[in-house]
Amino acid sequence: MQAQSLLGLLDELKGTGSGSVLYSQLERILRENEQDFDEREQLYRYWLRLFLGGYIRHLKPGSSMHIHAKLIYKQLQLPLTTTTLKGLRKHMNMFSMHLARLDMLDESVLKNTLEPVLSYYASDEVFDSTVQNSDLISREQTTALEPEPGFNEKTDSVRAQKRALEGMIDDLLPDEGRGTEERLTSTYRQYLSSQYRDTEKVQSMLSKHINETIEQNQKFGDMLHVVRQGLDEAESINEIDVLRQCLIEDIDSLSESHDSMAEKLAETKDYLKMIEVDSRKLSDELARVRLLSMTDELTELPNRRAFLRRLDDEMSRTKRYGADLALVIIDLDHFKTINDKYGHAVGDAVLCSYAEDILTTFRHHDMVARYGGEEFAVLLPNTDEQGAMAALHKVRRQAASQFCGSNGNKIQAPTFSAGLALFIPGESASGFIQRADDALYTAKRLGRNRIEVSHSSGNIIANEHEEEASDIV
Ligand code: GH3
Ligand code: MG
Ligand code: MG
Repeated sequence: MQAQSLLGLLDELKGTGSGSVLYSQLERILRENEQDFDEREQLYRYWLRLFLGGYIRHLKPGSSMHIHAKLIYKQLQLPLTTTTLKGLRKHMNMFSMHLARLDMLDESVLKNTLEPVLSYYASDEVFDSTVQNSDLISREQTTALEPEPGFNEKTDSVRAQKRALEGMIDDLLPDEGRGTEERLTSTYRQYLSSQYRDTEKVQSMLSKHINETIEQNQKFGDMLHVVRQGLDEAESINEIDVLRQCLIEDIDSLSESHDSMAEKLAETKDYLKMIEVDSRKLSDELARVRLLSMTDELTELPNRRAFLRRLDDEMSRTKRYGADLALVIIDLDHFKTINDKYGHAVGDAVLCSYAEDILTTFRHHDMVARYGGEEFAVLLPNTDEQGAMAALHKVRRQAASQFCGSNGNKIQAPTFSAGLALFIPGESASGFIQRADDALYTAKRLGRNRIEVSHSSGNIIANEHEEEASDIV
């Protein structure tokens, strides 16, 4: 790794003939050095583990000293970090003190400990194989030291949360959506995935921090046991002093790690806050975009998509409770001539006036939507044919008295033709709309400024009670 970065600095040498010879020489030397270093590190680890293993065999299994030495044995992993070595050096004093107090060393253990070292020097056997066979602590012993599985069972609960949230989003978003809706869904999904990635990151950060804290506390607990035992057995001021030193260093390092842990937790908290703010902003934005996607820009009435959604809801309600449901499609008469005669802006003003002044005559819980260019759809829950006809006549009277446009260019509101259908249980939404549409077509065909009703048979019966219509345009 180091050789690689050094070679990176010398990269330019490769540009010339003699430079590249020099480069390859340096490369060879650096690589050999690196290999040499690795081998030496392996050797040190091997020796340390041998001696520590031998020492462990002299300890009473389960005693605090035994546990402590095993912990250190486990930490001897390559590469040997300075922290590990520093920790080891610190404890060597204690171990050697303890060894000095042992009545006698177990000869067989000592022999087993030293034999591999001697055989290594006595023959040219492959180092690796010796190292690999050198584990003095059995598998069972070491696995007892494996860290607790602890807090890593996050994935299931996160996935369950994710599924639940995705379900909620499916409910929130209209299912007949195309275009905008699909884009919205996929944007939200992408956002959700990134949120879950963030959450998982935070969760794993937290779990790492918690594990570290547990590990530290465990080590500290062990250390206290060891020092306590050492104090019991201490025979000289010198020994007590070494123990005192160990204790001070451990407390220092513990308080240092507590500080850094507090810092890390504060960082995690900030990060969580950021995610929360981010998520609130996005959900506000989504609500805004969703509203826009359901609203007609010119008249600010609900659009066709919103209307179809509501139609579905009302049809389900009607099926369940058996109430009446009326549907009207209104189309302005000769609207094209208004555009042609007065201009598009006046045409727009007429549409707005219909939305704000004329169609507002319908009751509050009727739904008026802009269905198309100069077409409006109205849904009247709990309304029968008579009620719907009464409402439509009221609207027609309102249109007759309405002027639209700006001061200098005010015109009489145009008349409209309407097709009315009453919901027949069992029919589909498209069938229901089709019947209202057919009735509207009949109204147009019969001369406009009329309201026609589609009856359950599908026949459209010309409305005999049609009020006297005044041709306003
Ligand atoms: P009919 O009585 O048969 O319904 O005749 P009409 O002229 O109302 O119907 P037609 O379908 O021939 O024309 C509808 C016109 O509505 C054509 C289109 O340019 C106009 N239109 C559609 N949307 C808008 C809009 O948002 N603003 C304006 N100003 N005009 C619109
Ligand atoms: Mg039309
Ligand atoms: Mg029209």
